[in-house]
Amino acid sequence: MKDFLDVLGIKAENSGVFAGEWIENPSGGTLVSVSPVDGKEIARVKMAGPEDYEKVAQSASKAFAKWRMTPAPKRGEVVREIANALREYKEPLGKLVSYEMGKIVAEGEGEVQEMIDIADFAVGLSRQLYGKTMHSERPAHRMYEQWHPLGTVGIITSFNFPVAVWAWNAMLAVVAGDTMVWKPSSKTPLCAIAVHNIVNPIMEKHGFGGVMNLFVGRGGKIGETFIADKRVPLISATGSFRMGRRVGEVVGRRLGRTLLELGGNNGIVVTKDANLDLVVRAVLFGAVGTAGQRCTTTRRLFLHEDVFDEVVDRLKKAYAQVLIGDALDRKTVMGPLADKAAVEMMMAALEKVSEQGGEVVCGGKRLEGSGYESGCYVEPTIVVAPHDLPLMQQETFAPILYVVKYKDLQDAISWHNSVDQGLSSAIFTNDMISAETFLSHRGSDCGIANVNLGTSGAEIGGAFGGEKDTGGGREAGSDAWKAYMRRQTCTLNWSTELPLAQGITFGD
Ligand code: NAD
Repeated sequence: MKDFLDVLGIKAENSGVFAGEWIENPSGGTLVSVSPVDGKEIARVKMAGPEDYEKVAQSASKAFAKWRMTPAPKRGEVVREIANALREYKEPLGKLVSYEMGKIVAEGEGEVQEMIDIADFAVGLSRQLYGKTMHSERPAHRMYEQWHPLGTVGIITSFNFPVAVWAWNAMLAVVAGDTMVWKPSSKTPLCAIAVHNIVNPIMEKHGFGGVMNLFVGRGGKIGETFIADKRVPLISATGSFRMGRRVGEVVGRRLGRTLLELGGNNGIVVTKDANLDLVVRAVLFGAVGTAGQRCTTTRRLFLHEDVFDEVVDRLKKAYAQVLIGDALDRKTVMGPLADKAAVEMMMAALEKVSEQGGEVVCGGKRLEGSGYESGCYVEPTIVVAPHDLPLMQQETFAPILYVVKYKDLQDAISWHNSVDQGLSSAIFTNDMISAETFLSHRGSDCGIANVNLGTSGAEIGGAFGGEKDTGGGREAGSDAWKAYMRRQTCTLNWSTELPLAQGITFGD
């Protein structure tokens, strides 16, 4: 047993259901969490059955009645304690993220740092949930808007950010006065249990044990009960387009709200005057980091013909230096993919490259032998591709980088925008007109557009999310908190008359 599992309270067998308290024997069957790092069983989790889900939903509804009466700055104080506890557990939790999901430990700890950052942000936000005041057209009337807690927020998370995505939602929801139910990915249930082991004592100490609830269960089964539940006014779901469309349909049918954070297919455009040192570093981190399993991973690279050969050459050299192996070893640069199925998907995509007119110029193989026994390790791969390679239309969740040559910037931008997804994008250039063109309304069509930095590694201060098939949701900073509250417009008449709006006279 690894030390960090003990520290985080992970046992050989764990309940995966928290409804204000851990449910001892949930009835939804047992899930075995296996590490992609070494292929070993980490621990078992008992999943939620329908009656367990019911307890979870009731716990959140019951806690809401009390939690919403707690002033927002006081709710912020509780979040401050959560931020401090996360600081204390950053290393073990980062290691568990790394071991259960496969990202390298520096990225696992980075993910916990994101949780701390959003918690700190939320503490300040708890005193800044501002509404506007407006001038009424009627004399002696006051008009303003205020923001009320929404209710129970449903949080569905993807495997690749097993703790940070919860925090982006949960920390804002908590200061907004909402309660929550979390359904983590079945690939990373232990990360969710560990997070609850960290936050539960704080919530319980303040008498708010039911504010944060959790159930582990299969998306297509108990997940369906969850998204159809009218007691959950907002479902914030992070994952694939397929899942997002399903969630959108089911929640839309009951006129609930969704916040969808779905797949990306992110591109970088490089002009001929760009600083190529920056390009190589950004592309390496963007395409190889997290073994290509970030929603913001760089998947497409559009290189001006004058710099094409040099950049591809330098990238090949950089790829050759990437140490692939044990994600918990601090020297490792790239860990495994999440599971063997992800490796199969990558290999299936690569098999189509040449028949579609592309060429694998670097990597492309699965890794076998000592250190790679889990069967989840691959080489990061570069494919030189025509701009219309059909494979480039899809998000293959693996470290495949498609590189395309262009002559004219407008072509590069239109090829860049020609995919269904619209999450993150970047241009590398030292030319102001090229930079502004990329950022203009006829430039990148993505939710995130960067100049001289890559597509991945967003800060929590900005609103995070994307357009088109990425789902349109915005999380984290800026005014993303508004999604977790309901807006009320109030007009107050302090005169002795009853003037009507638009100057209407009625029955006078
Ligand atoms: P996935 O869609 O397979 O699963 C995501 C979550 O949805 C899991 O918890 C799963 O159990 C749940 N789910 C699936 N069907 C459901 C249903 N019918 N009802 C309720 N829940 C259901 O995605 P994944 O493989 O875990 O994650 C990878 C994907 O997530 C990639 O496409 C990636 O780009 C995307 N992602 C997007 C963002 C973003 O912010 N835009 C962030 C991280 C990951």
